[in-house]
Amino acid sequence: MRRIVVLSGGIGGARFLRGLQRAAPEADITVIGNTGDDIHLFGLKVCPDLDTVMYTLGGGIHEEQGWGRADETFTVKEELAAYGVGPEWFGLGDRDFATHIVRTQMIAAGYPLSAVTEALCRRWQPGVRLLPMTDDRVETHVLIDDGAGGRKAVHFQEYWVRLRASVPAHAVVPVGAEQARPAPGVLEALAEADLVLFPPSNPVVSVGTILAVPGMREGIAEAGVPVIGLSPLIGGAPVRGMADKVLAAVGVESTAAAVAQHYGSGLLDGWLVDTADRDAVTVVEADGIRCRAVPLLMTDVDAAADMARAALDLAREVRAA
Ligand code: GDP
Ligand code: CA
Repeated sequence: MRRIVVLSGGIGGARFLRGLQRAAPEADITVIGNTGDDIHLFGLKVCPDLDTVMYTLGGGIHEEQGWGRADETFTVKEELAAYGVGPEWFGLGDRDFATHIVRTQMIAAGYPLSAVTEALCRRWQPGVRLLPMTDDRVETHVLIDDGAGGRKAVHFQEYWVRLRASVPAHAVVPVGAEQARPAPGVLEALAEADLVLFPPSNPVVSVGTILAVPGMREGIAEAGVPVIGLSPLIGGAPVRGMADKVLAAVGVESTAAAVAQHYGSGLLDGWLVDTADRDAVTVVEADGIRCRAVPLLMTDVDAAADMARAALDLAREVRAA
């Protein structure tokens, strides 16, 4: 299984990818990154999930935080705040700013996001081919109460970062997805893949958004190769973040089994749950998805590599069956 395609969000995807690289050093890995979280701030185009993957695999990530740059300073942000220019709730550091300036400059010069991402990766050398899911604009919006008896849509980052997902979410909408086309290389990578992996990324606003791009599900199905996912939920709760909130918004219970059922046997061939969720195995298998329970906590790169090995083993089982 040399050619592996991974549908990734930010932290959960990036940490898993680092393990996959260790577990399968010979593999040719293409990452299809979520761009629904992208946001324009201070006139700059920010792509949080692509950058998290790029920085994590390129050795520039702030390890404890899981996003943003190591050794970061916030002088530009402080100066902007001194002018009263926000938003103050989104953390952009000085080093990180440089990435967004380069990206915005290239986009203004006419380069598509896929070409810009490739250029940024020439510096970071992530060791994978990092592709945005699309070059078109897709923006995840969340429908919340407007405080006056009605509802309003806010940008995903406003809901997630500013509001910390603390208000009820009624719907999650990847605005623009219906008109979006997969970025150059995406369908080709799927067509040539030996294996497709869903890392323990957010099933709704990371993997779900990627799957919302027309052609993506078909591309995965037509590849005719094992599709294996790993649960981002352990013991009924997300390991990090508030995935339970967006799962509730799309009517999915926050359990490892429910997430597998949400993806469905039409898409998924295999699913890994944590050993704490071993009771989910029979439930998931009853739905026609091969399931195993293994430790799924990415405490370090070795733990993530063990998870990747378990995913590769499950893929071999699927292929042999
Ligand atoms: P984001 O875009 O930065 O939010 O990152 P992703 O969508 O790629 O991943 C977020 C998901 O990763 C969350 O739902 C977490 O529950 C999950 N996650 C984070 N750390 C771990 C871990 O150690 N193990 C597992 N199984 N899931 C994790
Ligand atoms: Ca994200």
